[in-house]
Amino acid sequence: MVNKVKIEFLSLSANESFARTAVAGFFAELDPTIEEIAEIKTSVSEAVSNAIIHGYKNEPTGVVSVECSYDEDRTIFLSVEDSGVGIEDIQKAREPLFTTGSTEERAGMGFTVMESFTDRVEVTSKPGEGTRVSMMK
Ligand code: ATP
Ligand code: MG
Repeated sequence: MVNKVKIEFLSLSANESFARTAVAGFFAELDPTIEEIAEIKTSVSEAVSNAIIHGYKNEPTGVVSVECSYDEDRTIFLSVEDSGVGIEDIQKAREPLFTTGSTEERAGMGFTVMESFTDRVEVTSKPGEGTRVSMMK
């Protein structure tokens, strides 16, 4: 690991754009392409919005923790963690189009987007304890 930051913020939807911008600023050091930075920002947004909407059910009192780092060969690591409701069936949650939200509002595509914009997505979760989504790019 060459560099690492960790940010924590309350589960307010306004903080989703803060997280995007903060993460993009951190990785700017690596001179990413515009496309790479867009992919990273979108992946962070998807994971953070999941933590807020699903993990904390839009209650603004939860804490979301985002950790970013990169190593010598410029591999990027990102993790988004919440202490919310957790996920019962992770495999099912990751399926394209699967959502527990209302179908007018949610497409069920967040995990699919993270998977296509990063090289690896790992999800660990325990019902009642919370969820951690780790990405590598
Ligand atoms: P979209 O992201 O397209 O708006 P979505 O959020 O429902 O829709 P995904 O992001 O793929 O789709 O997530 C799929 C499902 O996984 C969610 O509907 C929710 O049930 C569950 N989930 C995802 N993240 C979390 C989390 N942090 N805590 C609890 N449940 C989660
Ligand atoms: Mg989502």
